[in-house]
Amino acid sequence: MTDTDRAARLARLRADIAKAGEDAGRPGGAVTLVAVSKTFDAPAIREVLGQGQRVFGENRVQEAQAKWPDLKAEFPDVELHLIGPLQTNKVKQAAALFDVIETLDRPKLARALAGERDRTGACPRLFVQVNTGEEPQKAGIPPGEADAFLADCRDTLGLPVEGLMCIPPQDDAPAPHFALLRTIAERNGLKGLSMGMSADYATAIALGASHVRVGSAIFGPRATAG
Ligand SMILES: *Cc1c(COP(=O)(O)O)cnc(C)c1O
Repeated sequence: MTDTDRAARLARLRADIAKAGEDAGRPGGAVTLVAVSKTFDAPAIREVLGQGQRVFGENRVQEAQAKWPDLKAEFPDVELHLIGPLQTNKVKQAAALFDVIETLDRPKLARALAGERDRTGACPRLFVQVNTGEEPQKAGIPPGEADAFLADCRDTLGLPVEGLMCIPPQDDAPAPHFALLRTIAERNGLKGLSMGMSADYATAIALGASHVRVGSAIFGPRATAG
């Protein structure tokens, strides 16, 4: 990919996001683009930073630690989101690097994040991942347990939960999963809805997404699985 390819892809994507928002009657700026840079190196990310993009997503703590401290020093207004599973033994590193953790998915992790918050006095903004398809191999709180988990996170632990995140099953139509996530968010008074990727962000925006997580439509195809 050349610089101009990525710049053109990003410009097209921004226009598409704006159009999807307009079509859905959403106010301008209602949708934040999280540019998913997993597997791409710092020079590729710098191209996208050069186009003014400032919100990025990574799915692995270790990979992000190798790339982002330098990039964040260069671009202090970057907002970095963790969109992959977080092990409790990496909470300290993750809380130090990420501005938003979108994958709070179990009580043990909630307690580890609260412990780290007590230690440092700071906590990343949080999204709770909901396993809307109830897939056994996928992370996330089952929809039926979401309300109780949210109450535990917010009321008992005082964690700064801003919204919900989901990854619909590969073979399902995504719309019902996005609608379910929105229903759970609304009844819990949460504004953040991180849903929609390269293939289905327009559907997610129509159903109320506040954040879409888009990788390949900006960066191009990934060489390795991620
Ligand atoms: C990789 C990834 C994305 C982006 O996927 P694309 O299809 O490249 O847009 C979004 N969300 C999560 C959780 C991911 O791991």
